[in-house]
Amino acid sequence: MLKNKKYDFIIVGQGLAGTLLAHDLLDSKKRILIIDKQLKASASKVAGGLMNPISVRRCIPAFPEYYIETAFKRYSELEEKLKDSFLHTKPLVKLFRNEEVRDLWNDKYNNHKMDIYIKGFNKSNTFSSFKDIFTSANVEPAGNLDVIRFLSTSKTYFSNECDFLEEEFDFDFFNESKMSYKGYDSEKIVFCEGYRLINNPFFNYLPLAPTKGEVITIKIPSLEYYDQIISKGVYLIPLGNHLYKVGATYNREDLTDKITDDGQRFLIERLEGILNVDYEIVDRQAGIRPTVKDYKPLIGWHKDNSRIGVFNGLGARGVLVGPYLSNAFVNSSYETISRFDK
Ligand SMILES: Cc1cc2nc3c(=O)[nH]c(=O)nc-3n(C[C@H](O)[C@H](O)[C@H](O)COP(=O)(O)OP(=O)(O)OC[C@H]3O[C@@H](n4cnc5c(N)ncnc54)[C@H](O)[C@@H]3O)c2cc1C
Repeated sequence: MLKNKKYDFIIVGQGLAGTLLAHDLLDSKKRILIIDKQLKASASKVAGGLMNPISVRRCIPAFPEYYIETAFKRYSELEEKLKDSFLHTKPLVKLFRNEEVRDLWNDKYNNHKMDIYIKGFNKSNTFSSFKDIFTSANVEPAGNLDVIRFLSTSKTYFSNECDFLEEEFDFDFFNESKMSYKGYDSEKIVFCEGYRLINNPFFNYLPLAPTKGEVITIKIPSLEYYDQIISKGVYLIPLGNHLYKVGATYNREDLTDKITDDGQRFLIERLEGILNVDYEIVDRQAGIRPTVKDYKPLIGWHKDNSRIGVFNGLGARGVLVGPYLSNAFVNSSYETISRFDK
């Protein structure tokens, strides 16, 4: 039984995007209805949740600094609000693949102001469990968000603080001119459907180019917990209790949540390049990222109906960019975004 019949916002989708937006709107005292069916292959359910401020291949900042600051600050605030722990701040260790990569990082550190994120270099053989013959660098601030925990704690919070319909949004029951869905009226509606935006009749013209990703969870019997994230071709995120999440692959062709031989081979090959110790695979997952052709997020209001909005395209780094973008959207900076002029 829902509490209201009239809302300020209906949010379709409670992945990372919808969750961040719902928190921002509730903090602004809006009445909201969230609709989500926990559909298969959603990105947030499999994401490693890595928060890495550097684009490791070119050793440049991945985003302007304020994105990073906003992300860490916002998740800390939400931990306090929800009385739970899901933000794990810890350094990231970049293991160099060869001398060229090592030299590039040294050059960026010395000459290109990357010392804001590179906090020092380690000698080779610093880590007994990892292959670091070409040395390594420490990156901070970094960490990971336990996305599943953040989403599930938020869902419990939303069940008390607003209305929640656990069903698949059916466009046949949406009346665009009355802004009503199955008898529930709203001032506005915002679609946060992740890669399923490709099926949305209002926004399917947008340049979403979804990318499948596979991750595995491994158990390292000799390593109970390592309090740093390791990166070398793939990331290795400590989960506790000997478990580590390893990811991820990129595939634009196959948009299913099936585990593939190619994906598994890729992850295992990369892992062999990192680990000096034995491990076993305990879980395999796949999801679809809402990536965009030009890497720009898809945020704003429809050109023919300014009450229908989209908050999507968070891409491969939604955890880092989501908090800043959600805040900007709620504060209406995106009202005149031009990419919606089809
Ligand atoms: C393998 C993998 C690894 C990743 N690793 C990282 C990482 O380490 N760091 C990082 O920052 N990002 C990572 N990402 C990217 C990150 O997961 C995404 O940026 C983010 O989760 C996108 O969130 P979203 O809410 O837009 O989409 P989704 O998570 O896909 O959520 C969409 C939601 O909408 C719901 N929905 C859709 N259509 C309907 C409908 N019609 N009716 C009802 N509900 C509907 C779905 O059920 C779902 O809950 C990774 C992604 C993948 C796939």
